[in-house]
Amino acid sequence: MAQTKDHRINTERLLSLFTELVSIDSPSFSERQMADRIEKELDDLSINWTEDESGKVTGSTAGNIHGFLPGVGESVLFCAHMDTVQPGIGKKAVVDPDGTIHSDGTTVLGADDLAAVAGILECLRELTESDTPHRPVELLFTTAEEAYTAGASAFDLSKIRSREAFCFDLSDAIGSYSTQEPTLISYKVRIRGKAAHAGFEPEKGISSILAAANAIAKIRQGRVNDHSTLNIGLIQGGSGTNVVPEETVVEGELRSAVHEEALELLANLTRTFEDEVKAIGATAEVTHTVHLTAYQVGADDPALIHYQKVLDSLGIEKRSKATFGGSDVNVFRRHGLSAICAGNAMHAAHTTKEYTNTKELEDVAGILYGLAHC
Ligand SMILES: [Zn+2]
Repeated sequence: MAQTKDHRINTERLLSLFTELVSIDSPSFSERQMADRIEKELDDLSINWTEDESGKVTGSTAGNIHGFLPGVGESVLFCAHMDTVQPGIGKKAVVDPDGTIHSDGTTVLGADDLAAVAGILECLRELTESDTPHRPVELLFTTAEEAYTAGASAFDLSKIRSREAFCFDLSDAIGSYSTQEPTLISYKVRIRGKAAHAGFEPEKGISSILAAANAIAKIRQGRVNDHSTLNIGLIQGGSGTNVVPEETVVEGELRSAVHEEALELLANLTRTFEDEVKAIGATAEVTHTVHLTAYQVGADDPALIHYQKVLDSLGIEKRSKATFGGSDVNVFRRHGLSAICAGNAMHAAHTTKEYTNTKELEDVAGILYGLAHC
């Protein structure tokens, strides 16, 4: 057992649960087994929960799990995502003598975000075993976070009772937290030219590939300014080497720390495609999806103040970070919750070199326990 300031974390139990969770396959949209395991744990703890019908919308084999542990005072929401990225089938947690935990090298470890799932479940066990009064704890285990927060986005947020939420889903040091996450928009441009035989009568054709190339050459890509990025990630076009290509599809994404700027970048991109392809007689149709909406966390944010207070009480260094990722926190913030994306026990996430360690797993459970008491 590891002693933190005012409670004990059962390290052995936490490690065993984490190892077990890692062994469960839960790629995005196939979280059924993971959901079953979490629901069993909540049943064991006599915690009420429901699973929503979001699977019908997202295509996932499970819904989001929403639970509630009664307590005293204002409730706090703990959230973690159940899905892991690929390669994530047949994961195995290897625990080294020094406490480092990694996969066998062929898959990710899945500490993103199973370290948080394990931390929350261990914290709930501590809370239910202890006689000390604690805040009511609301729970949300989401599906398909890795697919642009599909699960949380499909959750009926009007069911949430808490005003504060914490997602331990930041791949950084324990004690870190996001001060901002960006707006993220994906787009698709369908360019239509005119097919013709490339050898016999190329003059009669309009090359959609040339039209796309002309537009792409005019669009600034990469880091377009200090808080926005734009990427063209996929191009598909043409039907044969001897055919003037009739259709070309270009896909990409853009991100910005400022929501309005993201919309402006999209408008510029749309205009450039339309103007450039029109110049050679082609047409462009641009469609897009806004996956995430940017947020900023102010210094007076209630959840941030609570989080910092707990870190101070545990002697953990506070580190703020502006990230360019995205998480379920974007969804909560958009709904008006005071939500924080906090450093989780995970490193080199989304790679087969992903690792964590016993001490950090304990720290996450300890911080959660602290948040349930402040
Ligand atoms: Zn994650």
